[in-house]
Amino acid sequence: MIDKAICPICGKPKKPWFALCWECTEKEKQKPKCEVCGTEVPEGHTLCRPHWKEKFEGKKQLQSIEYVKNKKEVEFKEKFEGKYYFNSQRVKSKSELLICYFFTANNINFQYEPAMRLGDNDIRPDFVIDDHKGNYIILEHFGLNDSSYKIKQEIKEREYQKLCAQESCFSFISTNEEDMHNLKDRLGKKLNETPLKRVLWK
Ligand SMILES: [Zn+2]
Ligand SMILES: [Zn+2]
Repeated sequence: MIDKAICPICGKPKKPWFALCWECTEKEKQKPKCEVCGTEVPEGHTLCRPHWKEKFEGKKQLQSIEYVKNKKEVEFKEKFEGKYYFNSQRVKSKSELLICYFFTANNINFQYEPAMRLGDNDIRPDFVIDDHKGNYIILEHFGLNDSSYKIKQEIKEREYQKLCAQESCFSFISTNEEDMHNLKDRLGKKLNETPLKRVLWK
């Protein structure tokens, strides 16, 4: 029997919705992982073996074959370049990096993509904030606008709203690309509708 209230790594009490306790989630994040697939890699490495090979061979290929350049090069760039890091942890986009900076400037205790379990689903919200008063604020950043993404977005939103209705310690907010132009006002305002209310945001 798995005890949902005990952290499987350190044995200390944890909240049932999270896979690990807050500290172990943090420690897990510090372990080096492949930038592409996320599997654990030895210290000092940034790619797993198959992805390292792919990058190495892909580079050679890009140099030698001119005519496949366009599409292949874009794919290659997306996979291996243009990455964003916060405290040596990879984040998915520049916007998410800005949110990390905003949280840090405001001394907010947050986790990026912590492993959680809701009902039968394993999920990883973009951000979870612990306000140290027993409240958790989930933030999803919705960075795209196309229709298939919108459908996924709505499903996610409904799931989080359901969680918040069931568990009073959870709040859910989301950001979009528009919010990035003025995080202080726009994210600040959204956070003010959660238990994290503050008079001033930096
Ligand atoms: Zn633990
Ligand atoms: Zn990999």
